[in-house]
Amino acid sequence: MTRAVSIRVRLTIWYGSALAVILLLFAVTLYAVMARQLRDQVDRSLVEAATVAIHSIEQRRFGPFLLFDDLSADFPRLAVLDKFFQIFGPSGTITIRSANLGRRDIPLSRTAFDAALAGHTTFESARFPDGPPIRLVSVPVRHGDALVNVVQVGTSLQPVEEALNRLLFILLVAVPGALVAALVGGWLLAGQALRPVGAITQAAERIAGGDLTQRLTPPAADDEVGRLASTFNLMIAKLEASFRQVRQFTSDASHELRTPLTVLKGEAELALRRPRSAEDYRLVLESALEEIDRMTRIVDELLLLSRADLGEIELATQPVRLDALVEEIQRQAAVLGQDQQVEVTLAETAPVTVTGDELRLRELLLNLVDNAVKYSHRGGKVELAVRRENGSAKVCVSDQGIGIPADALPRLFDRFYRADNARAHAKKGTGLGLSICRWIVEAHRGRIEVRSAPGAGATFTVILPLASA
Ligand code: ADP
Repeated sequence: MTRAVSIRVRLTIWYGSALAVILLLFAVTLYAVMARQLRDQVDRSLVEAATVAIHSIEQRRFGPFLLFDDLSADFPRLAVLDKFFQIFGPSGTITIRSANLGRRDIPLSRTAFDAALAGHTTFESARFPDGPPIRLVSVPVRHGDALVNVVQVGTSLQPVEEALNRLLFILLVAVPGALVAALVGGWLLAGQALRPVGAITQAAERIAGGDLTQRLTPPAADDEVGRLASTFNLMIAKLEASFRQVRQFTSDASHELRTPLTVLKGEAELALRRPRSAEDYRLVLESALEEIDRMTRIVDELLLLSRADLGEIELATQPVRLDALVEEIQRQAAVLGQDQQVEVTLAETAPVTVTGDELRLRELLLNLVDNAVKYSHRGGKVELAVRRENGSAKVCVSDQGIGIPADALPRLFDRFYRADNARAHAKKGTGLGLSICRWIVEAHRGRIEVRSAPGAGATFTVILPLASA
C-alpha cells in the first residue's frame, strides 16, 4: 500500500496543526498585550501620584524639611495602601518615607539618581528578597537649575503578576482544551463527510467482483460526493450496456456465421447420400459458393468495423462533389432496381462539395440505396435528393417500402441488428450495412438520421459538413 494514512487522518492533522498555530499566536499576542497594558496602567498611576506629590512640594515650598504627616494630611490620595512614597534630598539621602513602607529599605538607585541630576524621570522594576516585586518611579524636583528633591513613588507588582499568572493558567488550560475539542470535532466531521466515499468504495468493490447491476445510492445533497456517485452510476450503466453489447455481438456474429455453415453442411450431406449427375453437383457447388460469398461478406464487413474501431483505417480528405456522386449512384441503382421493378429517381440536386473519402462516401450511399431498393415493394419508388441546408450538405434516400417499427429505430445502427419485418422480407441481409454507414458518416464528422413508420417507407438522411471554401 502506497498511502497508509487515510484522508480522514490527514485532514484532521492539517486542520489541527493550522488551528494549533492560530491558537498559539492568539494566546501569545493576548498575553503580551495584557502584560503591556497592565504595566502601563501601573506606570501611569505612579506618575499621577508623583505629580500630585510634586505639586504639593512646589506649592508649599517646604524646602528640605518635609514632614510626612503634613503631606499625608494634605494628600490623602498618596496614602492609599497600594502605594508608598519616599522623598530624597538633593544628595540622594532619604528625607521622608511613607509609613506603609514599614521596615523595608529601598535606596535610590545610582541610575535613578544620575537621571534625576540630568532632570529625567526613571521607571524601575525591583525585586527584594523579603517582599513582592515592586515598580518604582523617581521624578526629580528642581528649583531653577538645581535638584531639590527626588520624589519616588512605588507600588507592588503582585496584583499585576497574579492577574498575568491567572491569564497564563487559563490560556494553558483553554488552548489545549479548545484544540482537543476541535480535533475531535474535525475527526467526526471528516468521518461524516467521507462516509459516502466509503459506501462508493464498497459498491465499487462489489461491481469489480463482477456484479454490473449494482448502483450507488447517491447522497441526497447535490454536492461533490453526490455528483461523484451519479457520474459513477452513469459509468457503470455505460459499462453494463457495452458489456451487454459485446455479449450480444458475439452471439449475433456466431449465429450469422452458423446459418450459412448449416446450409452448406446440409446440402453437402444431402448431395453425398447417393451418386448424382454432374449437373446436380454443379448446382450444389453453386449454392455452396453463394453461402461462402455470404460468409466472406460478413467476415469482411466485421473486419472493416473492427479496424475502424481500432482507428486503423485512414480516410482520404479530398473535395468530393456530392451531387455528382449521387447522380452516378442513381444511374447504377436504377439498373439494380429493374430486377424488383423499383424505380430509382433523382428528386433534387444542388451543387455541394464535402471533404472526405470518395470511395467510402460511395459505399455509404450505395448501402442506403441498396437497402431502400431491398426493402421496397414491387413497383415501389426510391427517391434521392442532395441539398444544401443550414451550411451543411444533406443527402436523403427515401422509399415507400416496408418501413421500420418504432421499437427497432433505436437499435437500427447496431451491429447485426435486423428488424423482424426485414428478415421476413429479404433473407439475404447481414445487419452490418448500417453500422458501416454510421461509421463512415461519423468519420466525416457528420450524422445520419432515420425517419420511418411501419408500412410507410423510410427516409435516411445523411448530414455532412460542407467543404470549407
Ligand atoms: P441488412 O443487411 O439487414 O439490410 P443493414 O445494417 O443495412 O442490414 O440494415 C439493418 C436493418 O435496418 C435492416 O435489417 C432493416 O430492418 C432496417 N432497414 C434498413 N434500411 C431500411 C429501409 N430502407 N426500409 C426498412 N428497413 C430498413
